[in-house]
Amino acid sequence: MADLTALTGQALEQIAACGDLAALEEVRVHWLGKKGALTEQLKALGGLSAAERPAAGARINEAKVQVQAAIEARRTALAHASIEAQLAAGRIDVTLPGRGEEHGGLHPVTEARLRIETLFRRAGFDVAAGPEIEDDFHNFGALNIPPNHPARAMHDTFYFADGRLLRTHTSPVQIRALQERGAPLAVIAPGRVYRCDSDMTHSPMFHQLEGLVVGENVSFASMKAALHGFLKSFFERDVAIRLRPSYFPFTEPSAEVDMSCVFCGGKGCRTCKHSGWLEVSGCGMVHPNVLKASGVDPEAFTGYAFGAGIDRLAMLYYGVNDLRLFFENDLRFLRQFRTFSA
Ligand SMILES: [Zn+2]
Repeated sequence: MADLTALTGQALEQIAACGDLAALEEVRVHWLGKKGALTEQLKALGGLSAAERPAAGARINEAKVQVQAAIEARRTALAHASIEAQLAAGRIDVTLPGRGEEHGGLHPVTEARLRIETLFRRAGFDVAAGPEIEDDFHNFGALNIPPNHPARAMHDTFYFADGRLLRTHTSPVQIRALQERGAPLAVIAPGRVYRCDSDMTHSPMFHQLEGLVVGENVSFASMKAALHGFLKSFFERDVAIRLRPSYFPFTEPSAEVDMSCVFCGGKGCRTCKHSGWLEVSGCGMVHPNVLKASGVDPEAFTGYAFGAGIDRLAMLYYGVNDLRLFFENDLRFLRQFRTFSA
């Protein structure tokens, strides 16, 4: 019989030295396999006397159990180490700064619209909305623009095959608001409008702001005060305004609203074409035909309406000289307006 203590010691040393599961399996086969070194010892029992056999057999089994246990322990340790290694290799350092943490911001036109809504809400106006695909009645007919009226030619309308159209102004919301709510009312309607037109100061889609106040004894003077108050609040400075007689089919009398130039203070510059004034709005007293078409009695109620370009107001507020910059989505341009208010 070989020295079992020495053999066992040798086996345990080899097991401890195994660096991976494949090496451990080789060691297991070498010692405990069918032709393994300890298995061979059992076969040698036949050469011993009957008296010696039980004790020798017991000792061999003891050695096998010891080696088997060492292999199992090593296998568990190696499996554990392998998982640890995989975890370490695929580790994510959650303390590193994120790559996409940059904050977004609102588009300058959206920012301007939200400010406008806030200012008018404070003045007691509701914010109304209407569909961008309109019918002829709401976009033209009810606004005192019958078929063949020359004003239709100025609108460069996008028509659908069924006669409906992309609204050319936010004025149809006046009609819808009056039809739904009746008088008295005070609403603004900001929104997208569409015209077949495109250059430095025109875009086929742009944003308009409509205002409508209908009630008893609503006057031209109250309209002037409301517009002046709005412009001073929007531009955050004391601006002067002037009204010039004008013509719109849906208001009578009608006026264009000029505001003292916010760039030169009225001295004259390129933006105001050296006049010192900037045209910012069209307005007037609601035409009786419009009130009638909306189901409101023009004998009982009067009203005023005004319209302005939100994009134009934003251009003047931010000092942007080309309308198209608002719609090109160039991030280098948009990043300059990144604010976090809403
Ligand atoms: Zn100017």
